[in-house]
Amino acid sequence: MPESIPESLQQKIEERLRYYEDLGIRLFYRDRAPGSGSSLSVSAAVLSPPPVAPILEESSLPKPKAKVATPAPPLPASHPAPVIAPSGLSLFTAVEKVKDDSLLKIREDIGDCTRCKLHKGRNKIVFGDGNPKAELVFVGEGPGADEDMQGLPFVGRAGKLLTQMIEAMGLQRKDVYICNVVKCRPPENRTPEPDEIQTCSPFLLRQIDTINPKVIVCLGAVSSKTLLETTRGISQYRGEWQEWRGRKLMATYHPAYLLRNPPAKADVWKDLQKVMAELGLQLPKKKSS
Ligand code: URA
Repeated sequence: MPESIPESLQQKIEERLRYYEDLGIRLFYRDRAPGSGSSLSVSAAVLSPPPVAPILEESSLPKPKAKVATPAPPLPASHPAPVIAPSGLSLFTAVEKVKDDSLLKIREDIGDCTRCKLHKGRNKIVFGDGNPKAELVFVGEGPGADEDMQGLPFVGRAGKLLTQMIEAMGLQRKDVYICNVVKCRPPENRTPEPDEIQTCSPFLLRQIDTINPKVIVCLGAVSSKTLLETTRGISQYRGEWQEWRGRKLMATYHPAYLLRNPPAKADVWKDLQKVMAELGLQLPKKKSS
């Protein structure tokens, strides 16, 4: 007979699962206790720290299948954390340059896309929004329910927090460009799958190349891992400048994660201050009362 779980514990489990989900951890494995069949209790499996957190954190990442891994070349000592995956496969190197590319052309090429299975459940394609000549581009994971309804990125709760973050930098949403790794909402807001990321990535690359920003900020594990083509957990390199195709890239936590873990806002603010320094932005002056 399955044991029933008290409501308070159930709530704790749900909160903890949401917390892990924000970190990109979506798969849990139950250890088989010797001699006890398959029954490690759910509360123990979920509430205790995962045994190998980095691997779990990376469980939703694209895992290159075709090529055998080759070691990454050594990096000069001054290079930031070596996050490029030693897969030998790049999502971006094979993308052909489009002559006189523009955001309009890219949107036209996407069309009424049916290239991957995400099209089946979407309402609107969420292409991206903001200044087509922005010096700063934010890349999120993929649209949620609000974004899917409106066809605009980051307009739900997490979006409101992102807007506040942008304004704290002394900017407005119209000054920056905001887009996502995948342009269609994954069902139940699940993590985009490798084939979906792979299908959509050429459009993201074209968007970034066309906008030609000075700085890219990756919001959360999915966009960081996608652009940097790494399986390393975001907490290992967040806040450190990375080089991405000749541009500066800063990985930081996703606003949805901050909604559930407000103390992490301090880390994100530190990261955004580095971005401000890079862009020569001053802290906005406080309004005198
Ligand atoms: N989360 C994202 O990653 N992107 C959005 O557009 C909204 C929420």
